[in-house]
Amino acid sequence: TAPLRVALPDEKATAALGERIAEVLRAGDVVALSGGLGAGKTTLARAIIAALGHAGEVPSPTFAIIQTYDPPGVALPLVHADFYRLEDVGEVEELGLDDYRDGAALIAEWPEQAGGFAHEANCLSIRLETADDGRLAIVEPGEGWLNRLP
Ligand code: ADP
Ligand code: MG
Repeated sequence: TAPLRVALPDEKATAALGERIAEVLRAGDVVALSGGLGAGKTTLARAIIAALGHAGEVPSPTFAIIQTYDPPGVALPLVHADFYRLEDVGEVEELGLDDYRDGAALIAEWPEQAGGFAHEANCLSIRLETADDGRLAIVEPGEGWLNRLP
């Protein structure tokens, strides 16, 4: 299927896309966010995390690489990963991601640094690009996402 192009003229629009994704997000899913530095990946990740009920701060996980969200009141346990600093794909295993993957949704920045997730049916791939003052999201749903995004 053709990728979906979603204009994100401002951060409000990014928040709205985050809400749409959060509504249909399930355990075992991956939201793979690609795009250069400043493309808006963390902003969209935060929007999804907030929409799922996480009220507190959402630090950028660049240094910790993975950040987990499983407090009471959060609809779905989440792992927010930023693979920017991974030096080698082999390091992914050391992060222990597999311990979380089954029971949580994974939001991944710089997914290609971790070998990529697009081969997984439950991967929603989103590429963010700058467009005028805002952003453009190019959304490619895996098979497991068909008919889930209205
Ligand atoms: P990344 O994680 O891709 O490096 P960030 O999410 O940290 O990027 O965003 C970088 C900057 O872009 C931030 O200042 C943020 O406010 C801005 N930004 C994010 N989304 C949008 C948008 N849809 N329109 C305008 N500015 C945006
Ligand atoms: Mg970021």
